[in-house]
Amino acid sequence: MPRNKVQFQKGLSFVEFCKRYGTEDRCHAELIAMRWPDGFECPKCGGKKHSYTAIRRIFQCSACRKQTSARAGTIFHKSSTPLTKWFMAMNLITSAKNDVSSLEVSRQIGVKWDTAWLIKQKLMEVMRQRNSIYKLGGNVQVDDAYLGGERPATPGKSGRGAEGKLPFVIAVETRDGKPIHMQLRRVSGFTLEALEAYAAANLEPGSWVISDGLNCFPGVKKADMKHLPIVTGGGRPKHPFFKWVNIGLGNLKTAIVGTCKSLDDHHADRYLAAYEWRFNRRFDLAKNLARLARVALQTEPKPYRSIAAVRPAEVPG
Ligand SMILES: [Zn+2]
Repeated sequence: MPRNKVQFQKGLSFVEFCKRYGTEDRCHAELIAMRWPDGFECPKCGGKKHSYTAIRRIFQCSACRKQTSARAGTIFHKSSTPLTKWFMAMNLITSAKNDVSSLEVSRQIGVKWDTAWLIKQKLMEVMRQRNSIYKLGGNVQVDDAYLGGERPATPGKSGRGAEGKLPFVIAVETRDGKPIHMQLRRVSGFTLEALEAYAAANLEPGSWVISDGLNCFPGVKKADMKHLPIVTGGGRPKHPFFKWVNIGLGNLKTAIVGTCKSLDDHHADRYLAAYEWRFNRRFDLAKNLARLARVALQTEPKPYRSIAAVRPAEVPG
């Protein structure tokens, strides 16, 4: 049987990782090169002339005297965790076939579980913010789904509602029958209004939206989409039109449910985002770490209080 090219591609080997990111100096040099590819630029006045204190890794602008570092004003801001550990965490999170738990991150990089949890949440937040700028277009298969459980096989009296579950739409853009990009986006519920708002925010106008016969999906037409409903009867549609959303949901379940004991409202978007990020970048595993680091440098600091407003979504054990 031919091997799946995506699954068997070469990622960044441990040896290559160590060569490139094995010391604090190397990680720091990578970060500087990514943040200022054309040389240092003062974040306050844009000045290029500066002095540099290597021991503190601090840049000082010669024009306005502003002191800054490669980490300042980014997702790495004010973290006391060495960059080598951040890079190890980024490598684990981007190269995992399924989700990697905070407990696993804490063991692998040698930090306490709550530190690992926060690093992981911050990196998933980077992924969430970057994902949110992309829209799907062309032919888009969509389906309704819930985090925290499958929808009932036979819709009951109240439709497919599921108590205490978090509703989201899974959407897969296809070309010539092949999946191109996937999106996993939370919705307030499965109503016409919610689907209109979902489509306006996440899909290119004029796209063909292919769904089953659930009566919320025609809502996308109000957001200038074309809608093709395929009525399949109760339960999850087996029609080939839904092949990719079905595969995506099956894999998502393995990826997220295995590592999280419970998911709550506050953190669910980040878990969905991490899965979406990995799926959409599945063709180039080796570059995935550098890609995440580059986007992390463009992401504003996310202090603990804004991440952990509610209890952690993962419980170690
Ligand atoms: Zn300056």
